[in-house]
Amino acid sequence: MPPVRFSASQVCVAAACPRILYFDAARARADNAARPAVTRIWRPGDDTVAAGALFHAAADAFHREHRRLFAAKELAALLTSNVNRDALATALLNAFYWECVDREALAAKDGEQQRAFMDVLRNYTTELADVLAHALGSGRPPAEVLDELFADTRRRVDVTFPVGPAGEPVHVTGVLDYVFHDWRSGRDRVLDYKLLPPAAADKFQVGIYALMHHVQHGTQPSAGVLYLHPRRELHELSWDEVRGSRATVFNLLASMREWVKFDESTGRGLKPPGSPDVCSRCRWRHECSRRLGPVNEGTRLTHWTDASADPVRLEVRPPVEDPAPAPLPGGLWLGQVNPGIPATVPLTALPTHVAVVGAAGSGKTWLAKAVAEEAVLAGVAVLAIDPQGDLVQFLRPADPAKLQPAEIERASRFRQTADVRILTPGTDHGTRVSLNPLKLSAGSGEDADDLLATTAAHLVTLAKATGEVESQKTFVFQLLRALTRGPARELTLGEVATALRDPTAAGLDDPDRFVKKAERERLARQLNNLEHGPAARLFTGGQPLDLGRLATPPVEGRVPLSVVYLNALADDAEKQGFVAALAVEVYRWMIASGGSAGRPRLLFYLDEARDYLPAGTAQPPAKKPLLRLFAQGRKYGVACLVCTQSPRSVDYNVFSNCSTKLIGRLESAQDVDRVREWFAPQGPPPGWLGGRVGAAPGSFVGRWPGQPSDTDGVGFQSRKLLTAHEGAWAPDRVATEVAAAK
Ligand code: SF4
Repeated sequence: MPPVRFSASQVCVAAACPRILYFDAARARADNAARPAVTRIWRPGDDTVAAGALFHAAADAFHREHRRLFAAKELAALLTSNVNRDALATALLNAFYWECVDREALAAKDGEQQRAFMDVLRNYTTELADVLAHALGSGRPPAEVLDELFADTRRRVDVTFPVGPAGEPVHVTGVLDYVFHDWRSGRDRVLDYKLLPPAAADKFQVGIYALMHHVQHGTQPSAGVLYLHPRRELHELSWDEVRGSRATVFNLLASMREWVKFDESTGRGLKPPGSPDVCSRCRWRHECSRRLGPVNEGTRLTHWTDASADPVRLEVRPPVEDPAPAPLPGGLWLGQVNPGIPATVPLTALPTHVAVVGAAGSGKTWLAKAVAEEAVLAGVAVLAIDPQGDLVQFLRPADPAKLQPAEIERASRFRQTADVRILTPGTDHGTRVSLNPLKLSAGSGEDADDLLATTAAHLVTLAKATGEVESQKTFVFQLLRALTRGPARELTLGEVATALRDPTAAGLDDPDRFVKKAERERLARQLNNLEHGPAARLFTGGQPLDLGRLATPPVEGRVPLSVVYLNALADDAEKQGFVAALAVEVYRWMIASGGSAGRPRLLFYLDEARDYLPAGTAQPPAKKPLLRLFAQGRKYGVACLVCTQSPRSVDYNVFSNCSTKLIGRLESAQDVDRVREWFAPQGPPPGWLGGRVGAAPGSFVGRWPGQPSDTDGVGFQSRKLLTAHEGAWAPDRVATEVAAAK
């Protein structure tokens, strides 16, 4: 029987109020989210201190970097058996503050919050100095003491409890704040930090963590909640007390298994009871009674007693870890938090755009390719712009020898699903595509005018017009409007050029009002040159660029994955021209074909945004149409995926408006600063950003809509790709691979 899975945060929420657990789970089901977003129960004081995330990120950095920090002169000199505790506390405070705290994020908080945060740091480092001095005083070698204090890798707990009435399993995962061997008590100790005044639920929560830690590692730990603000206070549970709570914990877990399955429409199942004490601080209070009846209605399972919760039960082992876990339904599986724990972004996050950022060699393109593969598996067509030759490799399956059995099965499903098409503008290395004729049918009204205005601006830019450029754009817009009046039709560049020379014949009276005759003539000549001059190969031969065709599956069950390979084009001007035209065509298609927000129908993937969406006032031809696509796409179910290795070189608005941000290794503090700014529209920037400098290849941390609160700041490793990823393919290699794939 498969276990029902919960995070430790869900267990804590259920302990506070079972109905919150239920409402979170019901909402996740309705949103088709991979995991529920856990409702936070606010406490008085939350908003005044509000620095918990900052503190926890700094504490994580301290643990991660402890070897380097203790090798520094000031701290290294204090690692002696007769160390002065006050001096040690001061040195720890300095190292912690200067090396681990995101000081810029701290500076953004108000004065009271900053003072509170410094109190927390002092309390924390004083406690740390106390434990450390005690351990050093026992005469143990400093390196051993430091490793036992800071390098414990047993912080993740991942345990199955067979607690249902017939032994039905419940699986719980979570990450402990801190676990270490405390020489003062001679025991392993699980410690939870709180930056708020004490509450009874905190002890219960850390008791659950300690119980889980024992089940997984056999440690029999004591447990403690260390309150760091407003004053330092330690609330403890002995191992006997932890063990004595197991019947309560087992009954809670068994009930949770049933509560999340309750059907509120029929009333079938175990109805969760409410907790009136919490209601005034609960976000569900306006719908709670309407949906589930009076708060005192509901039932708990109580089949466990102290006697029946036999210690044998505590010897349950965690399940064998699956190194390639199956992704949760409805999610994009991007990697693994730990072996057996998938990192999954809900499909519902895709339409509000995805940004992937990471320095060269960070695995940014790798992860973005995983997003595209997942989109295809979820039935979303992909249109990818490949400036280098990395994305054309979707054509080749990954080497099965490098995949595990579950991944081989997934790779095979990808091959059966993806209809990979390689488009090569202006050349025959793949399927040749041409920008001529122009497709201009987009219905009527504001959207249609928008498309004509975008196309007009694009044509004037392509023609490298001089003189009164804005007037020429307005004139071409009027002309296109006149030419497309009546039934939908396509226009060749030649027809537009002819109409420019004789606007009256196209139905446009008094053309001199807009643009002088000489300028119209020059523009017409320049448009003609596009068809017959040096750039002609972009406008002649091959299939006309048609998104309708690119987004349509060849047969039911297949999903188009079209890659536009730019590397065979002669220069940047041609690449810019083509990407601009492509963005205009996507825009035309999405308006003409309708579509709606919600489930995406196309993922538009731009692998390196720097050249097309540069920062500041630079306006290469593709920038405006791409910005328009970003602004309007979500309304029509067109999701965008953008990547960059240079966060300071790309347009701020595009990246800040991507609601899913996946951050790999960053090069410098300046890059961190820029990425921090991208988070501003969604709220305070995450405290973990500073830790991204120097991160390992393939390691990412992200934020996305519907993310469970307990995974914020938790890193993951990209999953293996289902398709090839090697050095960039040159045009001849593309031609060979395309021929071989036929
Ligand atoms: S309103 Fe009260 S009973 Fe209902 S979910 Fe919230 S805390 Fe629980």
